[in-house]
This record gives sequence, C-alpha cells and structure tokens, in this order.
Amino acid sequence: MINNGKTLTPKLVKKLWMAFIFLIILMGASYIFITGYLTLNYNQAITQRINANVANHVIQEKFQNAAPFLEDGTVNKALFGDLMHDMMAVNRGIEVYLLDKSGDILYSVVLEHNDNEPMKSVSLEPINRFIESNGEEFILGDDPLNPEAKNIFSAAPFSIDGHEGYIYIIVAGKQLALISDSLFRTYFTKLSIGAIVLTMLFAALIGILSIWFLTKNLRLITQTVRKFQEGDLDIRIKNPEQSDIEVVALSFNEMADTIVDNMDKMKSVDNLRRELIANVSHDLRTPLAVLKGYIETLQIKKDTLTESQKEEYLQITHNNIDKLSSLINQLFEYSKLEAEQVTPIKEPFSITELSHDLIAKFRLLAEQKQIHLQLENPEENYMVYADIGLVERALQNLIENAIKYTEPNGKVRLSLVKMGKQIEINITDTGNGIPVNDQPFIFDRYKQVNKNTQKQGLGLGLAIVKKIMDLHDTTIVVLSKPYKGSSFIFKLPAYQLP
Ligand code: ADP
Repeated sequence: MINNGKTLTPKLVKKLWMAFIFLIILMGASYIFITGYLTLNYNQAITQRINANVANHVIQEKFQNAAPFLEDGTVNKALFGDLMHDMMAVNRGIEVYLLDKSGDILYSVVLEHNDNEPMKSVSLEPINRFIESNGEEFILGDDPLNPEAKNIFSAAPFSIDGHEGYIYIIVAGKQLALISDSLFRTYFTKLSIGAIVLTMLFAALIGILSIWFLTKNLRLITQTVRKFQEGDLDIRIKNPEQSDIEVVALSFNEMADTIVDNMDKMKSVDNLRRELIANVSHDLRTPLAVLKGYIETLQIKKDTLTESQKEEYLQITHNNIDKLSSLINQLFEYSKLEAEQVTPIKEPFSITELSHDLIAKFRLLAEQKQIHLQLENPEENYMVYADIGLVERALQNLIENAIKYTEPNGKVRLSLVKMGKQIEINITDTGNGIPVNDQPFIFDRYKQVNKNTQKQGLGLGLAIVKKIMDLHDTTIVVLSKPYKGSSFIFKLPAYQLP
C-alpha cells in the first residue's frame, strides 16, 4: 500500500537518472566524434577547393616563357628555383612535384623536409580523378614526404616540347598539417569540454523535466486512486485521453466503473432477494390463511355443517394446497435457474409432438373456461435441437398464461413455422393484452401488470421462460395490443435429420 505522498521510489529515480546521464554522455561523445571527423574533412575539402587551380596556374604562369626541361632533357632547375622563391613568400607548407607520365617524381620543390625517405613515385589514380572532376571532388592523394599518410593536392597535366607529365602539388604540406592539427586539437578540446558541459546541463534539465512530467500524471492518478479507496466511488481521472500515461488513466477509470457496476449489481441482487422474501411471505400467507380458516371452521363446526358444506370446504382447502405447492415449485425452479444450477441437456426432439401433448394436457382447463385451444398445421413434424424438459416448461407457462388472461369464448393458438434453419414457435391469444408501457418489464420477476386482478400468480412464470430462452441462446418477443390479445414468439434451432 502507498502511504506517503511520493509517487516514485528513490531507487527508481536513481535508476532513471543514471540511465539519462549514460545516454546523454553517449550521445555527446558520438556528437563530438562525428563533428570532429566531419570538421577535419570539411577543412581539407575547403583547402583543396581553394587551391584546386594552383597546379594549372604554375603551368600557365611559369611554363609560358620557360620550358620545364632543358634542351638536354634535364629538368630546368633554375625555373623551379624561381618557383620555390615565389612559394616561400606565400606558403612554406606547399610541396611541388614534377611527375612524368607514369607518376615517377622527376623533380621536387620542398621547403620543409623530414626524416622519412621520400617516395619515388606517386599513384596516378587520384590525380586522374582530380583532373577529370576539374578539382571539384574531394580526393586525397599520396604525400611523397609522408608515405603512410594521404593528403590533399592540386594537379594538372602538361605537354611541352614532347615532354608529358603532371605538376603535382601537395597543398597542405607537413607544416600546414602540423598547424591545422594543433589548432584543430585546441578547438576540439574546447568543443569537447563545451559539449560535455552542455550535455550534462541538458541531461539534468531533461531529467528534471521528464521526472516532473511523469510524476505529475502519476501524482494525479495516485490521488484519485486514494480518494476512491477512501470511499469516493464517483471519482474518476478527468480527461484520461489527455494524460501522458493514458493507458493507466483509462484502465483506472474502467476498473472503477467495473467495481461500481459490480457493487450496484450486488446491491440489486440483495434488494431482489429481500423483495423475493417479502413477496414469498406475502404470497404464501394468503393461501395459508385461507387454509387455516377453513380447517378451523371444519374443526369447530364439524357437527353442525352439512355433508355438502364439508365437501365444499375440503375442496377449497385442496385448491389452496395445490396453489401453495405450485407456488413453492415455481420458486424452487426459478431459484435454481437464477443460481445457474441448470445446464440444458440439448437433444433432437419433435416440437410438434410436444405441442400435441401440451394441447391435450391443457384442453380440459381451456374447455372449462370455454376457450378454444388449438395447434396450427399439426401434420408437419418439426424437429428441434434443445432441452426438451426446459422447452416444455416454457411452453407450459406461456399456454397457462394465455388461458389465464383470455376471457371465455376467446382463442389460444399454438403455431409452429419453419424459418430457414429455425423453427418459430408462436403462442397467440385473444385475451386482454398487455399495455405497451408494461411490455418491456413482464419478463422481470415479480412484474405483474395489474396487481389487483384475481388471476395473478407469483409473477415468476415469464421470468422462468426468459431464463430458459437465455439458456438456449435465443430470445422471446412479445407482441400485444390491449383488449386484442398477445403473441409470445421465440425460435429454436431446427434439427436436420441426417
Ligand atoms: P403471473 O404469475 O402473474 O402470470 P407471469 O410472469 O407469468 O406472472 O406474467 C407476468 C405478467 O405478464 C402477468 O402478471 C400479466 O400481467 C402479464 N401477462 C403474461 N402473459 C400474458 C398474456 N398472455 N396476456 C396478457 N397478459 C399477460
């Protein structure tokens, strides 16, 4: 049970925080790494693009008036000396190479040497790609002074006096690389520190905000649950679909509805039970009182009563005992159905035969009331698949009612009609009908339309019929017009003979 105001345990908060910090650091590190990598490439690409035409310029400017090779075929060292002079003024990091057609280095102008053994030739593949793309593509080529490293370059082909080859210029030479490396490292360190500090700040902010948001909704739900627990059964989470934890909010509301529903049902069951006891006592008391009265009279006046009076009194006593026993039977039957102790045993049987039997059984009662009782189209033999005992009980109650609520000279008709895979059973009378307003309630127990009529029974007959219909997954419909008559109609699954 939650008994403090907190919604999250400190353990959970700690775990959430750790997860957040770990995630944010991971994100920060990836961010720094990607930025660093891209920045390096970006710088190199820019430097290469800016210097893309340097090789071309060298050829156009320097080789216009002086050839790169002397007449004896050797390299024009004076020309390259001049070139070195120019370059020194601009950028000491630049390295200029004179390559032959196959990429062999014929001559080089390098201001800053290192201890590495310089390469004798360079790969022509990046050079050709560079020339093809007009210097617009970012390509790294061999750096003769750093055989293990690749570097940005500018290149251009030349063909002078039968000599063909390339001018190959490493744009960011060793020194430039060193400077840019150290600068880059300084910025990179600053960037890393900045990023880590910012990331931690954001982590803290996001952590605080998310825990606040999360607990805000949880707080609301916890408060509501506690109020509900304290007995405020009407309380629900307002606008649950707007809650950040919609599922929990909706589930709580549904759960509360179900609990309240069940409580209502239990209350109504309890009320009905009380009503049942009250009605049963009332219904049993009347015939018992009559019985007691007649038996007492018989005892006291047994010597003065005539034989026919005694016979009459005994008959009345007998009738009341019958009534009592039928009431008790109905009650017993209904309570068994209500408690769901009855499982229908379904089997194929002839509904036509059952109807014949019932008509025969009630014929005497109907004749006594001068009611014409008949089965329509009795020659058709319809088979249904149902519990014969329960269906008999339902039909019995319906026929009994039809006779009970029909005036003398009226008619009660039982008809069976095949409708597709079902048999429709219809009990129609020409009795006094049921007021429209009462029709929806007659299947409720103890609903008796007119409590003052002499005909009333216990009010359980139709409730029992309804329960039997439920057990057969079917429904019963009532069509009735006051003073015209009523029809009770239900369907049962037809049984096809194999
Ligand atoms: P009861 O024991 O009172 O007959 P039922 O449950 O069998 O109880 O019927 C409930 C009420 O429905 C009856 O009191 C009666 O008012 C009405 N009712 C049932 N069947 C008919 C019918 N065939 N014609 C007119 N009213 C009927």
